[in-house]
Formats: sequence, C-alpha cells, structure tokens
Amino acid sequence: MNLGPLVVLHDHLDGGVRPSTVLDLAERLGVSTPVDNAAALAEWMTITPALSLPDAFSRFDLVGSLLQGADALERVAQEALEDLAADGVIYAELRFAPLLHTVGGLSPNGAIAAVQRGLVAGMDGTGIQARLLCCAMRDQPVEVSEELVRAAVVAARDGLVVGVDLAGIEPGFPAELHARAFDLARQAGLKITVHAGEMDGAHQVASAMGSCHPDRIGHGWRLIDDCVVDDGHITALGSTALAVRDGRVPLEMCLTSNAALGKPIASHPAAMLRDAGFLVTLSPDDRSITTTTASAEHRHAAELLGFSRADLAHCNERAAVAAFCDDQQRAALVEAVHAGWAQMPSRLVHLAERERWRSAGDTYLPAEFAKDGFVHLSGLHQLLTPANRFYRGRHDLVALVVDPNLLGPGLVWEAGTETLERFPHYYAAIERAAVVDEIALHPASDGSFLLPQALVAACASGT
Ligand SMILES: [Zn+2]
Repeated sequence: MNLGPLVVLHDHLDGGVRPSTVLDLAERLGVSTPVDNAAALAEWMTITPALSLPDAFSRFDLVGSLLQGADALERVAQEALEDLAADGVIYAELRFAPLLHTVGGLSPNGAIAAVQRGLVAGMDGTGIQARLLCCAMRDQPVEVSEELVRAAVVAARDGLVVGVDLAGIEPGFPAELHARAFDLARQAGLKITVHAGEMDGAHQVASAMGSCHPDRIGHGWRLIDDCVVDDGHITALGSTALAVRDGRVPLEMCLTSNAALGKPIASHPAAMLRDAGFLVTLSPDDRSITTTTASAEHRHAAELLGFSRADLAHCNERAAVAAFCDDQQRAALVEAVHAGWAQMPSRLVHLAERERWRSAGDTYLPAEFAKDGFVHLSGLHQLLTPANRFYRGRHDLVALVVDPNLLGPGLVWEAGTETLERFPHYYAAIERAAVVDEIALHPASDGSFLLPQALVAACASGT
C-alpha cells in the first residue's frame, strides 16, 4: 500500500536511538554493552513479551546511561528526525523525561536545550517539523513532577516545547498523584498527554481523565475493558470510555509496543475503537526498543487489522488536528495530510453571517453568491487567511461545518491566484442537511481570529 505523509504524536527519544549510535556512545563513554555489534545489539534491545518488565526497562536503562551529556542528547534528537523523515513522517512530537538525563550534571533545562538544538538541526536538514513534550514519571513524587513542569514552562518560551506527558509504570502509580503538576502545566498554557490504559486497566484512564484532564491519551487500548463487545463490535460504552469518546480525546495508539508487552496486534482493539467513534491515531512509541517505524505501524494496521488506505489517511488527519503546535501550523499540517493522501477533507467550513443563516430555509445562499457565482468553502487552515480579507468588521459570524459528502455535485476544487493551493467552491445553495455543526465565531475588528477549539473538534469528528 502506498502511504501518504505521516504524523507521529508519540515517539520517545530514548526509545528510538539507533543501535549503531548506542554502540558508538558506549565506546566513547567506556560503558560495556551486552554485545558488540549493531545487529546483535538491535536484537538484544528489542523487547518481547517473554521479558519481565524489569528486564524490558533495563533496555531503557542502558540507553539512558549513555544520554547524560548535551552532545549525546543533541545527536540522538537530530538522528531521530533524520530517521522519521526518511520514513515519510512530516511532523513528529518527540518526548523525553529531562530529569532522567541529569546524572552527568546537566540541569533539566540544559537537557531540554540540548534536545532542542538537535531537533532544530534535524528539521533544518530534512524539512520535517518537530515539537517536544517533556515527560513526568509516574513513580516519582508529585514535587518532582512539578519541578519537571516548571522546567518545561521555561523551555516553552523558546518555542519547541509544547506539552507535558506522564510516563512510566502504571500499576500502583495512578495519574491523580500528579494532578497538581498538570494543573500547573495547564495554567501555563502547555498541552497535556498522559500514558494511560497501556500497562493497566481502564481505571487508569479514568484517573487520568479525572485528575490531569489530558488533551490526548497515550495508548488507551485498555479502554476496551470498559466497553461491551459483541461479535467483534463495541455495542455499549462504560462511563470512562464514554468520557474519552464524547470528550473527543485522541488516542495515541502504538501497536508494536503493545505487542511487545503481550497484546498481539491481530487482537488489538484499535479498529473496534475507531469504528465506535474513538479518535484513533497511530505512532511508533519506541522505534529501536520494539523494532518498528511509523510506516510499519501503518502497514501492521492495514495487514493485521484491516485498515483501508482511507482509514490510514484519517488516522493521520486526526493526528494532524490533534497536534500540539499552534493553530496556523496545525492547519497547514492538516492540509498537507489531505494533499499528500489525495484525500477529500471530511469536513469543510463556510463562514456565514449569523442573521442570514438563522433566517435561511432549507437552503442557504450567501450574498457573495450573486457576485462570485459560488459559495466559498474552506478547509480548516484555509479559514484563517481569507477570513481576514472578507470578514473585516464583521463580528457576528457562524462557522458552518459542512460534510462534503452530503453536498451535491456542484463542489469544485479550483486553483487560487498566486498560490498552488486549491479552494473548494460550491456552485449551488448549501442544503441545511449538509451542515453538521454551527460554531459561533467572533473575529477581532481586523477580521483575524484563532480557531475555536469547538470548531477544530467538529472538523475532526468527521474523521
Ligand atoms: Zn510511550
């Protein structure tokens, strides 16, 4: 299957180090390794269900011991982006736990700065876009998590740090123990994701949802325990599953990683959860430690779980919408995914004057139709720029979220002037039935506005 551009939301810096780099760093630092060539090391590093959890974590311990200096962190961050870009990834959020890289004397912010330098070099060299998430660890006291968040808040001023995560062993360490730290993160404007429902049951997702209020959930596959399944289909949801689905909280699913801890991909509930309306995205988690790549995760989903090419496109569309970068970048990313997968966006938007829309009957035709001969529609990111031109001075707008599949044949994608982009024009009145959501929009006096969260969610809900 020919894949389009990939969006990776869940990739651990220390889980993706090249085996050849592990050997090289070990040699430089005089650290002994269990084997002495890259192929054998790659095999040793790969976690399998046969390993105990402590044995599995010992792989991270070896890599972690080598990543205590700024040069090493910078190098592996750059190499991670080179590897991801070569695999077809156009946007990646990498994550790491800065406080685990301070043994050699680096400060948490020194560790973050080193990784950021590597990411900048990787972006410059490959064209991939990257952002950084900082992980707190479940088995640490909340005071340590607060220290991590404070470091992340300082680093976020420089640009690449956009969020925080909670990682590590779930059983015995519920997310609610760290609620105070995540309150701090939210107040500072950082986004939040939490590993939950990976190594332990749906009650860990409930704890995360109730205490950390995450924007996304890492893994979450154990939500299936909170669902009623009949003949391979989810027929009812428990309260936690319902809160995640109806709260539109995207799931960063990592098939190979879950398989490494004992859940075979062929019986993974990703497809069932997707069919039940959960926002399923696909990521590699730990590329070296579980021997996978972003593209391999997509191929596994296709071959073992029956994902079609359109399903995979939607996974990346959802991931783009759920990215923690800013509005402009996120919207451009969504557009790049649509274009690269040659996929019709599942939602388009038309900005209407509230009064005219309210008083319309079964069909709606804006005043511009008489002049232009068509209705202006937009993809999510296209909304931001023309609105400045067309809607200056108009405050009381409503964003009509349109399902293009419910529009008639009058929908034509036309080339813009002085741009390579194509714009959806509709040569008919919009049927009320094609409008699946209306979101109030109040632009500033110059016509500019940020995308309302509700609008982003409404556009994502069709995927
Ligand atoms: Zn993870």
